[in-house]
Amino acid sequence: MNRYEELGLKVGLELHQQLNTKSKLFCSCPTMLKDDEPDVVFIRYLRPTRSELGAVDEAALLEYEKGKAYVYQAYSDITCLVEMDEEPPHALNEEALDIALQIALMLKAQVPDVVQVMRKVVIDGSNTTGFQRTAVVAVGGPESVIQDPEGPVHIQTICLEEDAARKISESEDKVVFKLDRLGIPLIEVSTAPEIKTPEQAQRVALKIGQLFRILGKVKRGIGTIRQDINISLAKGGKVEIKGVQDLELISKVVELEVQRQLKLLEIRDELKRRGVVDVKSDIVDVSDVFKNTKSKIISQGLQRGHKVMAIKLEGFAGLLGVEIQPGRRFGTELKDYAVVWGGVKGLFHTDEMPAYGITEAEVSELKKRLGCGPNDASVFVVDNEERAVKALQAVLRRCRDALRGVPDETRAANPDGTTRYMRPRPGASRMYPETDVRPIVITKERLERLARSLPEMPEEKLKRFVEEYGLSKDLALLMINSYRLDLFERIVSEVPEVSPMIVATTLEYTWKSLKREGVPLEQVDETRLLEMFKALGKGLMAKEAIPDVLKAMAENPNASLQEILEKLGLRALSLDEVRALVDRIIEENADVLKERGDRAFKVVMGRVMSVLRGKVDGKLVSEVVRERVEHFVRARVGVK
Ligand SMILES: [Zn+2]
Repeated sequence: MNRYEELGLKVGLELHQQLNTKSKLFCSCPTMLKDDEPDVVFIRYLRPTRSELGAVDEAALLEYEKGKAYVYQAYSDITCLVEMDEEPPHALNEEALDIALQIALMLKAQVPDVVQVMRKVVIDGSNTTGFQRTAVVAVGGPESVIQDPEGPVHIQTICLEEDAARKISESEDKVVFKLDRLGIPLIEVSTAPEIKTPEQAQRVALKIGQLFRILGKVKRGIGTIRQDINISLAKGGKVEIKGVQDLELISKVVELEVQRQLKLLEIRDELKRRGVVDVKSDIVDVSDVFKNTKSKIISQGLQRGHKVMAIKLEGFAGLLGVEIQPGRRFGTELKDYAVVWGGVKGLFHTDEMPAYGITEAEVSELKKRLGCGPNDASVFVVDNEERAVKALQAVLRRCRDALRGVPDETRAANPDGTTRYMRPRPGASRMYPETDVRPIVITKERLERLARSLPEMPEEKLKRFVEEYGLSKDLALLMINSYRLDLFERIVSEVPEVSPMIVATTLEYTWKSLKREGVPLEQVDETRLLEMFKALGKGLMAKEAIPDVLKAMAENPNASLQEILEKLGLRALSLDEVRALVDRIIEENADVLKERGDRAFKVVMGRVMSVLRGKVDGKLVSEVVRERVEHFVRARVGVK
């Protein structure tokens, strides 16, 4: 049993992939994003009724209580009244439904006779309607599994959904969204919580992502695939992590969540040892402690009429400074709660004092005021009284949860694989039928037609890569399982003059070794990669130069390929220039050539390549050297 099995780790995935359809899910607007100034801007305040919410949903209420204004940006050419919720949705996009049904067929899932669109309550403003439209297109059957060395993982559901509006900015009183993304079709594939290790989670996600790409009707690039990860430990909590954008980050996110939960359990045990059974504190105005403070944040707050409000955390001394994820302490978790529930910018705690211009004397006065003993900590906030009180109440709730271990939460992924608190886990009863969209009957004929046009499955591809492209079985297998599979196929078809072997080697071996060196290859987009292979095909650079060129492209995202080749001294040499260089080296080594006779070729080739490596294809150089050496020898014989 490995460590994760001992801990009872269970992971389930939800992958969301944007589809590259001609139009959106419920209107005929194009599926494209736009960064121009909007043509239309309008404001809404969402007020969900209790009946729409069904059972009272803590997560929904939290959003509602913030009382924010939602500002929407729209365009006259790429958005319409449907996105603005001024017109009912049109019929479900049949092209998108076909793609979702094909994914269902590829996963051997069971398609219902009728697909019914539902409304899922979302009140963070990301949907103008206050709900997201979603339809179950298929449910997993006994054969709907992703095979994996650590055990099969079942597919639970395949849904077709509309993407939400794009959040542009957020401030204290308003959130700005752009409507271009709202309504772009998304496929959601969710797995059973059968994944047992971080690595397995990543492999399963990559395999599902690969199915999407094999189908070839999906969007690519940052933000077009997003996954939510459900994680639980036997003794920990149930946590949903939202919005992981990079499939290759999944194992790290899972690993860091396991670490976080274990640290929280350690904190719980330590609190038990210390005999802490409850967390109670008055929320005390301690502004006068800081009336002469040198801390800028505090003095500026006080000048604005804000207050310093504080609580005592009995038995928590030293625990707020415990690191629970890289760069994140238990105090950071408390801060997340204060920010989300109180709308404050941050908090201070005594485990990090003295700091931020706050002196030892101020800290001891604060502790005295709250009646803190040596085992007690304090958290304090500078803001208007209402926000500060809400924030500290949330901190007290979070600290009470610490006595039980790991609270169930929805968390958001940070780019480094750590996570931050977002909101409580949503309740279950948030779906009801969308009466504006007719249910769609799925006929047997339709499924048969789609089954006939399914793409080549991985096993057939493997065979073709070995037989047609001459890849070794290992490399072909790597390529089939690669995140860059469709890129490989695109390059091979668009640049037939470059051997598929070179393309595969570059996208797998070279790619991975450069990544290990820390080269930011995510900066190199598909178009630039294609450009590099075209240059290779035209003989403008040699294959030996690929690692250097990739590295330079990653590090200079704005430089053109031309500039990079010049910068690296990889300007292509003309045939005449190569000849001239070879002749010069022959002249310089004339004595050696006389003595070594027919071995001259090897000597000259070695010297020439030490100058030209990476600049000119080795095969071309060898042809030139052979020709020039023969010419030299003949000339000498002629002289005799
Ligand atoms: Zn529209």
